[in-house]
Amino acid sequence: MKNRKNRRRYGIIKGVILFALAIVLVGIFMNLRLRSLLVNYMEKQVAEQALVLAGQAEERFRLEFQQLENIAKHLSTDMSDFEIHMEHAKQGENMTMGLLALGGNVVAGDSIEYDDYPVLQDAFRGKQVIDFRKQDGMVFAIPIFHGENIKYVFYEKYPYDQLSERFGFICYQGKGDVGIVTSDFEVVVPFSKDSDRLENNDSTLKSDSSTNKTQNDFIKMHADAFQTSLAKIREQMQVNNATAVWVGSNPSLILFAAELPVGDYILLGYVDSGVVSEGLMDIATLIIWVFGLLILLFAIEMFYLLGAEEKARESDELREAKEIAESANRAKSDFLASMSHEIRTPINAIIGMNEMIMRESDDRQIKDYAEKIGNASQSLLSLVNDILDFSKIEAGKMEITPNEYCLTDLLNDVINMILMKAEQKKLKWKTEIEDTLPSRLMGDEVKIRQILLNILNNAVKYTDKGTITFSIQGKMEEDVFQICFSVRDTGIGIRKEDLPKLFTGFERLDRLKNRNIEGTGLGLSITKNLVDQMNGEIKVESIYGVGSEFIVNIPQKICDDTPIGNHWSVLNESKSIEEKYQVSFRAPNAKVLMVDDNRTNIFVAVSLVKDTQVQVTTCTSGEECLDHVVKEHYDLILLDHMMPGMDGVEVLQQIKTLEDSKNKDVPVIVLTANAIVGAREEYLKMGFTDYLAKPIIGKQLEMMLDKYIPEELKTKG
Ligand code: ADP
Repeated sequence: MKNRKNRRRYGIIKGVILFALAIVLVGIFMNLRLRSLLVNYMEKQVAEQALVLAGQAEERFRLEFQQLENIAKHLSTDMSDFEIHMEHAKQGENMTMGLLALGGNVVAGDSIEYDDYPVLQDAFRGKQVIDFRKQDGMVFAIPIFHGENIKYVFYEKYPYDQLSERFGFICYQGKGDVGIVTSDFEVVVPFSKDSDRLENNDSTLKSDSSTNKTQNDFIKMHADAFQTSLAKIREQMQVNNATAVWVGSNPSLILFAAELPVGDYILLGYVDSGVVSEGLMDIATLIIWVFGLLILLFAIEMFYLLGAEEKARESDELREAKEIAESANRAKSDFLASMSHEIRTPINAIIGMNEMIMRESDDRQIKDYAEKIGNASQSLLSLVNDILDFSKIEAGKMEITPNEYCLTDLLNDVINMILMKAEQKKLKWKTEIEDTLPSRLMGDEVKIRQILLNILNNAVKYTDKGTITFSIQGKMEEDVFQICFSVRDTGIGIRKEDLPKLFTGFERLDRLKNRNIEGTGLGLSITKNLVDQMNGEIKVESIYGVGSEFIVNIPQKICDDTPIGNHWSVLNESKSIEEKYQVSFRAPNAKVLMVDDNRTNIFVAVSLVKDTQVQVTTCTSGEECLDHVVKEHYDLILLDHMMPGMDGVEVLQQIKTLEDSKNKDVPVIVLTANAIVGAREEYLKMGFTDYLAKPIIGKQLEMMLDKYIPEELKTKG
């Protein structure tokens, strides 16, 4: 059981760890996926922005050419104002301008290293051109026409250190920067932020960062990290006119590029990815948080479910254990019931035979022995009966059957039985009975008798000297008549702490003191059960060493409210214990058939009715009985219920229905050890005339014969 639990616990822990791992993996996957989505989105956004920036750069080039064109227009007609125009157009100190004739000769203005700017030649072919020389500067040139022919080329050159200021620009609120490079990533216009630091350095972004002291500290610093991104940009620019690539998280930048329509130039820039992702990152973080929270909730729910499952499993186990315990308890009750049933048969024989000895022996000594055997057998019988009752209560088979009864008879019986015992112990006896009590009541007399005998017996058992007081009163409580029995003794008493255990089965208190007193500890448990079943209540008051009082209240219906009167004083006097047996009738011509599978029982019963002189025919099975009933008429049939083969009930049916039965209307009395309450009614319903419980008591058997044997066959006395 413990192993199974551990294994299950281990399984759960394993499950939880796997679950946590799965959560982490899903989390990582989600994070990566979100990041990649975000990066894609940012790259797209930045690429679009790059196109806009390229447009701005293009516009600046266009303005540059426009200015040149304006001057050129004047120059084409009038060369005299050249100097004035030139001075006017110059943007900075080191800016140069001039007019070139074919071959590169300077006609007017500043000279230029014509061979260093090979693209200038294209201007002589009618094109507007831009050219640059590393670290030197950038040249814009347009042709000046004279009619159809190109007369001069007008150029302007910006020195390298002015380029950034003129053509570079900071973007994304200062978090981004833009430069212009060739398709081979040779820097034309350096990044504006770093332009002040550019001094005669090689201006390439190509890989060799150790030898190339690049123009751009920033890019140089991260040259290695940028190489892959630049390679990607180069690749993508072959198919797109703008692109952007996320460099990575350190630094978290996006490089972007867009084609410029003039020259073979590319606008290249970078921006802090934080600026682009602004808000989006927050959303992503929020999503991750929400996801984390959901996972946490899910995990809590999982734990809860696991716990609930564990609980359900435990309650299944508990149910299983309960069922096992209940079935074990049932088995125990069944065992106790069948065992006590089996024991009752031999006790029956002992009691019966003992009674025969008492009847037939005149030897004082032998009678004394027989009396002791009788007492011991009665104790044994009541013990077995207690066990039987207890197992019946446990099996839920103890039922209450109300019948009309005579209160005087009940009290007489009970008092007579106890009085003998009290006298044997030399205890004083006091009976206090209200003479206004109704004489006939409706209730389960047998059970009330059992309750009273239990508490009265205990009073006698646990009292060594003093008085036992038995009081009976009655009162009306809301239309219900309550009969109240009280048994007061001056015995050993019960400790206060033992009182709660008093009604628990098999619980005997004060064992040291009580070790010589016979008992099972079942009596009060049965008593309480019976009282509860009758909707009554039982109370105990006790002072240890002084005495106890047991009070039982039971609701009963009144059948006859004639007061029972006062004739109880006689009971306070001792009765003779020994009453010589005298047969109540004789019927030598009466025929009785006795059927029981147990020969000892038959022997006992036959012995007990010997003095009545009735003719008893015996048999030990149903089949034999049927043989007899077709052959002969009997005055009474005593039929055992439980027999192997045909049982008593089947035999009864046959007796009543067999065509040639000579005993169809003969009274049939069932003999049974089935002392379950309500059994009598059941048997009467089945068709038996009466019911006699085993072990058979001589006096009762004789009374039964007396009741059913026709009067004309009897000779009284
Ligand atoms: P038992 O068969 O032992 O008498 P009961 O169920 O009748 O079983 O009683 C349970 C225990 O209660 C007894 O063992 C005894 O210790 C205590 N008890 C019952 N009645 C009395 C009494 N009148 N005085 C003192 N103790 C009592």
